[in-house]
Amino acid sequence: MSADEFRRRGTEVVHWIANYMESVGEFPVQSPAEPGSVLAALPTAAPEHGEPFEDMLADVDRVVMPGITHWQSPRFFAYFPSNASGPSILGDLLSSGLGVQGMLWSTSPTCTELEIRMLDWMAEALGLPERFRSTSRGGGVIQDTASSATLCAIAAARDRSAASIEKLVAYASDEAHSSVEKSLRIAGIPSDRLRRIDTDAQGAMCGNTLATTMDEDVKRDLVPFLVVATCGTTGTGAFDSIAACAHAASGHDAWLHVDAAMFGTASICEEYRWIHDGIEHADSYCVNPHKWMLTNFDCTCFFVADREPLLAALSIMPEYLRNSATDSGGVIDFRDWQVPLGRRFRALKLWFVLRWHGLEGIRAMIRNHVAMAQTFAAAISEDDRFEIAAPHPLNLVCFRAAAGDETTRRLVSTINTSGRAMLTHCSIDGQFVVRCCIGHATTTMRDVDELIAMLREEVDQCLE
Ligand code: PLP
Repeated sequence: MSADEFRRRGTEVVHWIANYMESVGEFPVQSPAEPGSVLAALPTAAPEHGEPFEDMLADVDRVVMPGITHWQSPRFFAYFPSNASGPSILGDLLSSGLGVQGMLWSTSPTCTELEIRMLDWMAEALGLPERFRSTSRGGGVIQDTASSATLCAIAAARDRSAASIEKLVAYASDEAHSSVEKSLRIAGIPSDRLRRIDTDAQGAMCGNTLATTMDEDVKRDLVPFLVVATCGTTGTGAFDSIAACAHAASGHDAWLHVDAAMFGTASICEEYRWIHDGIEHADSYCVNPHKWMLTNFDCTCFFVADREPLLAALSIMPEYLRNSATDSGGVIDFRDWQVPLGRRFRALKLWFVLRWHGLEGIRAMIRNHVAMAQTFAAAISEDDRFEIAAPHPLNLVCFRAAAGDETTRRLVSTINTSGRAMLTHCSIDGQFVVRCCIGHATTTMRDVDELIAMLREEVDQCLE
């Protein structure tokens, strides 16, 4: 593709995306595609000869769109949001255009240094302690996902511990994300050495149970090496006490990782900074701008208080990567801070997001989402056909139909099949619960009112 052709086609694609942004609310939120339907619309082998771009773009509408669930719809209330935004898309496009692979400082100094500065900006914006800044012993890095960040934290914690791997035990609440167990398995620590600590009525890890479980393990000659505190659980958005986890972890010299994948972003607002109380004791922390901070997937900010254990676990120097900048010891090579060698230039999209919206713009979005979620929760709790199922200090509201599980299940299925909105569920004390997360940048109170109306309309039809 010549530069001229690229200019023309690129303009068409940008127009296509802009049209999509304007019309995304008109699509059924959850894709109605049947399994195999997209596969059936695709040729079974790659074309022998190049094809016209018109045909390719036409197939985006014909083949791709029917199988898309519209995460960018203003009525996407499922899972957690995965917000795209104009500045982020354009930053990502520039990153693709530059085609940089930023594994080493020397393979593109800007890629590393812009990332260092962005992570320091993020640490400041989130109110994270000095020890997570690049100017300290620690620092931050962009990972693809919170799962990868957790895996890196576990590798560092495992290698920092002097004990043999057969003795290592990890602790997280029974509401912690599945990536904790998965990462432990990858790191060679089987699931039966992850203690799932009970949660209290608020959904937070019981600090006392954590401390006693650790003590009991020590009596059995096992070695507590890691505590994962969840700052906003996936199911209900509950907050473990970081301070209580830190207290228990420090008694055993265990690593404390704080997983704030979704809700950490709220800490940009002073009034929600309480979610991070005790963070000064954490060894590592992660938050996903690709969830609630207008930055296209993928972008996880991962911070460590001390980079040495991370480097000790992940750094390897083959001859073909050797270069004078690395040898000087004066630069950071982010390949040593992650699992893969290669890395995309993700800092560009984060830079664009932070500059375009400013922290004030991001704060306004967060406050608007929280306000809408509180209005939604009030409407649900006023209606005796529904029950609120968990505390909802931020923008995730869990509720169920008073008539029971079967009605609640039917309600979610009816709404999702209608395409008018999308919700997901979780389980609390064995009961089926609807999760409604109000977190899309373009969601307005009108969308929320429509959801409330839909729920009220449908709940009687769904009675068990
Ligand atoms: N941790 C928590 C608390 C989450 O809620 C999620 C996803 O929702 C994750 C980790 C996994 O995030 P990622 O997809 O970035 O790995």
